[in-house]
Amino acid sequence: MSINVAIDGPSASGKSTIAKLLAKKMGYVHIDTGAMYRCVAYLAIKSEIDLSDEPRLSQMAESMDIRLTSDGKVFLNQENVTEKIREEEFSLGASKVSVYAGVRKALVARQQRMAQDKGFIVDGRDIGTVVLPDAEVKIFQTASVESRARRRFNENLNKGVKSDFELLKKEIELRDFQDTNRKESPLKKAEDAIEIDTSDLTVEQVVQKIVEIIEKRSECYD
Ligand code: C5P
Repeated sequence: MSINVAIDGPSASGKSTIAKLLAKKMGYVHIDTGAMYRCVAYLAIKSEIDLSDEPRLSQMAESMDIRLTSDGKVFLNQENVTEKIREEEFSLGASKVSVYAGVRKALVARQQRMAQDKGFIVDGRDIGTVVLPDAEVKIFQTASVESRARRRFNENLNKGVKSDFELLKKEIELRDFQDTNRKESPLKKAEDAIEIDTSDLTVEQVVQKIVEIIEKRSECYD
């Protein structure tokens, strides 16, 4: 395996779902960098650390023990937090703690160490621009706010969790605003990224599109 794949895009655009399926289909290892920011928010909230206390948050991002397993589980200081970190409180918390340069520096260094060889599919906001600027394939995955909120709504429904569609839309818009307007590594499309609008595509169609892009690109490195 001679290439790395960066998938960036706004909240709830389905990056993790797509990256997970792609990794399985192609025998790559998936790194979900959003889970790492969520872990910082989770630990801070549980430890009653103020989400604006940059020095303590940065120190925590450096020292906490995060393990992402090949079957998609997330362990934080040995605790399985896979499901918990998906809750809305930690989604918004992750968006808050991710504005700090110290937090980003600690997590970016970890991500670069994790993906220092080839054969990784890494998803996030700054992968193609900051974490892996040399990734051989860069995808910028988007979808309308309406369709992202609809997907989240249906996901919750399937899990038996009640949610308010309009509220979900507002939360997505708020995270979009925070992620694109922050000073440190704002969400933006890398110049050499291929943009895929998934609003009207099924998961399988998106996976197939990216598989074709990866296969074509890999030919150059065989
Ligand atoms: O991708 P996910 O929704 O799990 O990410 C949670 C939050 O973490 C995002 O809203 C964003 O603020 C932050 N994040 C980031 N850089 C990344 C991945 C996630 O700033 N590479």
